[in-house]
Amino acid sequence: MIIQPKTRGFICTTAHPEGCAAQVKRQIDYVNGQPAIEGPRSVLVIGASTGYGLASRIVSAFAAGANTIGVYFDKAAEGSRTASAGWYNSAAFEEAAQQAGRKSYSIVGDAFSSEIKAQTIDLIRAELGAVDLVIYSVASPRRTHPVTGETFTSVIKPIGDTYTNKTVNFHSGEVSLATIEPASEEEVQQTVAVMGGEDWQMWIDQLQAAGVLAEGATTVAYSYIGPEITHAVYREGTIGRAKDDLEATALRLNEQLRPGSGRAFVSVNKALVTQSSSAIPVVPLYISALYKVMKEQGLHEGCIEQMYRLFAERLYGTESAAVDERGRIRIDDWEMREEIQAKVAKLWSALTTENVYELSDLAGYRREFFQLFGFETDGIDYETDTNPDVAIPNLR
Ligand code: NAD
Repeated sequence: MIIQPKTRGFICTTAHPEGCAAQVKRQIDYVNGQPAIEGPRSVLVIGASTGYGLASRIVSAFAAGANTIGVYFDKAAEGSRTASAGWYNSAAFEEAAQQAGRKSYSIVGDAFSSEIKAQTIDLIRAELGAVDLVIYSVASPRRTHPVTGETFTSVIKPIGDTYTNKTVNFHSGEVSLATIEPASEEEVQQTVAVMGGEDWQMWIDQLQAAGVLAEGATTVAYSYIGPEITHAVYREGTIGRAKDDLEATALRLNEQLRPGSGRAFVSVNKALVTQSSSAIPVVPLYISALYKVMKEQGLHEGCIEQMYRLFAERLYGTESAAVDERGRIRIDDWEMREEIQAKVAKLWSALTTENVYELSDLAGYRREFFQLFGFETDGIDYETDTNPDVAIPNLR
């Protein structure tokens, strides 16, 4: 079939297998061009198919030479529907990893469930023995609790006061004011239940109890802080409460793993175009302004550059365990530099529909958004008949 992008708001309902494979190859090529990392040998990535999780898996396999298991929630192609981008990404990753002589396995299903945890533990035991790095990179709008069966929904809302700020429709380029009403206490609790640390804690507890977490293992989950302009809707809003909970979980897990010389961290990453971040009001316009400034300064990074730096410098390098006053790794250090933020703030106050393409990198944002789904990628002929049915080599 001819596969073209079909968008609904910030969602693209189609994905291009060859375009996704080219995007994965670009990330692998980047890593192959960097010095090798003396790092983990066996890695479990939960939320491994897109964004930061996929980049973490690529760095593990291609910079550190590790065997990997990826857990993710993606769909195969069916009838006239293409598979999801994460499916195609994972198929391309697995093929490349196996060609490079690494073991790699996929488990597709709900990471929040007990079944998927049990299946993953069995797979680790059978194929890898134990894992020495666990990356937790799940971003989801919903979670069904594995014990109570209750389903929670996360929302992105401020707490206390109504929030109004600029936002952009990144398809039309229209800059407008978004107003978001504050969350109820119930919505705050539900968001924490989805995006907080409970599921990460459950994974580590169960891996440890099953004896498949190696002595001295490291575990990392990802967080975000960002600039003043997004604080009310992000860091001081519902999702920020969930991140507070995730960060508190890291401190607890660090204590739990310390007797065996293990480590748990939250890494605060840079704002980047991913399927999750495009769903947050205000953030796409902020990212467009940020990209403009960071590209001009030669400091721009994507997911793969961020994750390579995280592994090479912070997790396994000379700055090992360099953390802020709250125990967090700060790989958002370049984004948060004073001079970068001052320039972004200046642009922010001037941004309008008329000047958005000139003052910000909205064109770059849009292109990266489509590239997440394998579109707008050099070297791909989008007019050619393409088979949407792609198998994942080692799907369990
Ligand atoms: P993403 O949407 O690209 O990836 C999410 C991953 O989670 C995918 O692999 C998806 O398949 C998986 N997933 C979702 N629900 C699942 C489920 N029920 N079971 C199994 N897998 C499931 O997201 P991302 O932007 O890479 O976010 C990953 C983490 O990084 C999040 O904690 C996010 O808050 C954090 N982060 C993101 C940014 C950013 O700007 N994108 C910045 C800093 C931190």
